[in-house]
Amino acid sequence: MTISIGLDIGGTKIAGAAFDERGAMICQQSVPTPKDYDAFIKACVGVVAGVELHSASVERFGVSIAGMIDQVKGSFFSVGIACARERAFRDDLAAATEQEVQIANDADSMALAEALDGAGKGYPTVLGLIIGTGIGAGFVVNQKIVSGPNGLAGEIGHLPLPYREESDGAAIECGCGQVGCIETTVAGSALMRLYAAMTGKKADNPQIATLARSGDEATLAVLDRYYEMLAKAMVTVIHAYDPHIIVVSGGLNGLPNLYKKVPQKWGRYCLAKNPKTLFVPAIHGPIAGLRGAAGLWG
Ligand SMILES: [Zn+2]
Repeated sequence: MTISIGLDIGGTKIAGAAFDERGAMICQQSVPTPKDYDAFIKACVGVVAGVELHSASVERFGVSIAGMIDQVKGSFFSVGIACARERAFRDDLAAATEQEVQIANDADSMALAEALDGAGKGYPTVLGLIIGTGIGAGFVVNQKIVSGPNGLAGEIGHLPLPYREESDGAAIECGCGQVGCIETTVAGSALMRLYAAMTGKKADNPQIATLARSGDEATLAVLDRYYEMLAKAMVTVIHAYDPHIIVVSGGLNGLPNLYKKVPQKWGRYCLAKNPKTLFVPAIHGPIAGLRGAAGLWG
């Protein structure tokens, strides 16, 4: 049996898992993410060894990281893993494990996981979109991540929201320094801000989803506006990449009627008045990073 192993590294934990050739997970384990770089590498090595112990030894593995990847240097920047900044992480981990290592960011890994054996299986081009605290995205063509020199393919979060209208609310400053980014308009905190602005009340995103499901008219009006902005954001992706399918993951991917309403609205902004693009929820959930990492070697 051929085994593939993936690590999923975040600011709080390092997870690892082994998958069989059909993509079924054989075992999984995780440890807290250390703050010191040497301890961090050691922890990654320990997770790989632990996973191998419960599956099989491998000569190479993949790593998904919640951060910006520099594939040339094999380094990454992640606010939650400050100790790794400017360090040659990929080479250091390869040396420590005596195995070959590939790294990818978490949105790219999620997109690959969904393209391999998730909601995007069988489609030549898959755009994986994470709508959560921020907006992350990755683009996969024929089951390979499109990886440019900046690691930014598909990252629409820091494009400006197009076709902005007054009812979209004020454009606000983004963490990246620009004003009116898609991330500041459709990520999790943006929906809460829109709800407060339109209703004068406060609610978090699970509460907003519950209110919408109960048929609360004011909340449905907020979501209708939110879906309009998301449709505008998706048209940037459709015009630039024209993916066969957009697979949505992240904390907001279960909003009521999301997958019906957004495609109903995007034709208004798209050159193709009735785009054939599919818009569907991801199916891998929290293990997408692990599954995508394990699939990096193809
Ligand atoms: Zn931005």
